[in-house]
Amino acid sequence: MSAPNIETIVSLSKRRGFVYPASEIYGGLGSSWDYGPLGVELANNIKKSWWRWIVYERDDIEGLDSSIIQNRLVWKYSGHEQTFHDPLVDCRDCKTRLREDKLDRDANGKPVCSNCGSTNLTESRPFNLMFRTTVGAASSDEDESALAYLRPETAQGIFINFANVLNTSRRKLPFGIAQIGKAFRNEVTPGNFIFRTREFEQMEMEYFCRAEDAPRLHQEWIDGFQGWLESLGLSAANLSLYEQTKEELAHYAERTVDIMYRYFPEREDESKQWDELMGIANRTDYDLRVHSKKPEDAEGKRINPDSTEDLSYFDTATNERFYPYVIEPAIGVNRTLLAVMMDAYTEKTNEKGETRVILKLTPEMAPIKVAVLPLAKNKPEIVEMAKKIKKDLQRSMRTVYDDTGGIGKLYARQDEIGTPFCVTVDHESLEDNAVTVRDRDTWEQERVGTDSLREYLQKRLS
Ligand code: ATP
Repeated sequence: MSAPNIETIVSLSKRRGFVYPASEIYGGLGSSWDYGPLGVELANNIKKSWWRWIVYERDDIEGLDSSIIQNRLVWKYSGHEQTFHDPLVDCRDCKTRLREDKLDRDANGKPVCSNCGSTNLTESRPFNLMFRTTVGAASSDEDESALAYLRPETAQGIFINFANVLNTSRRKLPFGIAQIGKAFRNEVTPGNFIFRTREFEQMEMEYFCRAEDAPRLHQEWIDGFQGWLESLGLSAANLSLYEQTKEELAHYAERTVDIMYRYFPEREDESKQWDELMGIANRTDYDLRVHSKKPEDAEGKRINPDSTEDLSYFDTATNERFYPYVIEPAIGVNRTLLAVMMDAYTEKTNEKGETRVILKLTPEMAPIKVAVLPLAKNKPEIVEMAKKIKKDLQRSMRTVYDDTGGIGKLYARQDEIGTPFCVTVDHESLEDNAVTVRDRDTWEQERVGTDSLREYLQKRLS
């Protein structure tokens, strides 16, 4: 089972402290969201898993953390100033502002307003998605020389550091550079909770290679990411691949495959249930060339007269110098978090016939691994023993102590936030030095001695 729709996750998130509407006490801010105590843990677990898999478990990828605000020229030469647009239309009837490329068409191929169904729309005009800002104390908003942008993707920070990383890490092709960080896009139609927001977080990796190896490595990353996503708990039935058509491909890309997730299971038309979770692109040698000082156009003019660096690679084995191709898997932390929560969502009926929510997160994803609960909070010895167990377990796994309700309520709360195990300390524990361990998914209970508790939990969590 997974969540029937995104709304279910919105209300669970608010109720339990995963995600809140941002600026709520001032009426909110469009589609901005804040991550609460459990949301920040879940997001961190996703990022840690990605970093471990991409950077630590391989021997050919380095990490990087580049600036959000860069020299404006980065975005000039990357092409973002010229081409990072969405086609914007307004509905003349209901005044809604829409993204033309996302609209349904009528029988004559005319775009239809998704709000009121009208085809009375304005001509489409390009709208640049980059957030503008000015840098420096003396600058005015009109001062072009102070103009800067918040990065709309983390990838360019990697390309402009290609030579730095290459020279300091002494890498040979193929190798990659990975980065996690915030990106900003002034989206025309944000929405669907955290699926599309104006501020979001990306996990991007640029894998540099020889042109002839690029198609094979591209396919390896497509396969690899499907495996990684499944390791986060996403079921294969809710994942699919989408091969971008020639018309859809970005101008620099040779091939792009999107991994889609079933974000809209409630939609009758199966083909409309899917949307992009991530994209994996073969970006050719485009990026390193456009940021390099040497390449020339057909008339012999330098395509980049501002760059001071040549981002080419010298292959000592073949004595060749060239611009490497790059394979880019790019995925949003927020979209991943939404998919992980949707897929983990389960309902179960207890013996009283009440429906309970269980978030069946993998142990790696679970914000809290173990909750220690005293059966009687008015009994100091029980409380003391429970707190001691919490402290001891916390050294090796995220553990919380909770005595704010009856045991049934406490179990239900932990099930709903995906805590794999609850440890209950009762009157007998004081006698036999053992506690009850309750399994989130089966609700089965087992008596475990406190001496072996940590080892027991570690084993079951791994
Ligand atoms: P879309 O077509 O949905 O606008 P995109 O193809 O422009 O996405 P990319 O530029 O490939 O997206 O960005 C890589 C990843 O970053 C996306 O697959 C998604 O996971 C995430 N992402 C992009 N834009 C947003 C956004 N506005 N809000 C949340 N995540 C986003």
